Amino acid sequence: MTVVTTLTDRRLLLVHAHPDDESIGTGSTMAHYAATGAHVTLVTCTLGEEGEIHVPELAGLAAAEADQLGGYRIAELATACAELGVTDHRFLGGAGRYRDSGMMGLSTNEHPRAFWGADLDEAAGYLLEIIREVRPQVVITYDDNGFYGHPDHIQAHRVTMRAVELAAAEGLAPAKVYWTAMPQSVLEAGLTHFAEASDNPFAGIADATELPFCTPDEEIAARIDATEQHAAKEAAMRAHATQIPATSWLYSIAGNFGAEFMGVEYFTLALGEKGPGSGPYGWESDLFAGVAAAASDAAGGPDVVGASGSRPVTPAGHR
Ligand SMILES: [Zn+2]
Repeated sequence: MTVVTTLTDRRLLLVHAHPDDESIGTGSTMAHYAATGAHVTLVTCTLGEEGEIHVPELAGLAAAEADQLGGYRIAELATACAELGVTDHRFLGGAGRYRDSGMMGLSTNEHPRAFWGADLDEAAGYLLEIIREVRPQVVITYDDNGFYGHPDHIQAHRVTMRAVELAAAEGLAPAKVYWTAMPQSVLEAGLTHFAEASDNPFAGIADATELPFCTPDEEIAARIDATEQHAAKEAAMRAHATQIPATSWLYSIAGNFGAEFMGVEYFTLALGEKGPGSGPYGWESDLFAGVAAAASDAAGGPDVVGASGSRPVTPAGHR
């Protein structure tokens, strides 16, 4: 049977390391674009087998015991995607192809399937297949430090950038590649706000610039205000119950800052041309800013036909 899907005119591809990263880091952005008719594709590189387990009844799933956490997290991720309204989700190379490497320097980095040890071109090849099918104009991943230094996040960055390079060689370069980031001004406001709190997530941090993901405001390219989706993001995070305790400071922050904390996400632009923006640094408010015209002009770009701006395609496989 042939499965026919439709390429909508705005297509966003996100590459994340573990189940839960999509919700914590980019959940509102994903929900915002899904709700406004863009095609949102999530690629998760590992099953997060090495995560801590915050649900006591499920402790036996841990890597050191039954080693079934990865399978359990597939279901958590499916629920999270449903909360975000995202229907196109894949695991890089298929579920279980790459294993969570654990924190930097641990022996789990050496596991034969650890994503940290993945052959770059092989892993990028899996992503290239998805790029060929989806033809995203916008790709999101992490910076070269993986936002905070976890090996799988660094590897997700490397694999994504290599896949984009390979896609460009085929005339399929996305118009833009963004990396997740936090502006210095936002972190400074957080430090000030939480200085006196008993559950201060910034305890021990004297200056925002000590945080690996702290980015000077002038280097931020896009501020995505998806505050209308903050409840979807929170629900998606709660779907990852093994990873995020119900008492997490993430939720107490959400209670205090509400929509602003949950609903606004920031990005630097790694590749492509920045579109029109506003404010002192010209921050874009839309990841597709300046893209639509370029996409239809670009040689080798998506072959968009029809008044609706969409075209049917037959993917190589179905999900
Ligand atoms: Zn992660």
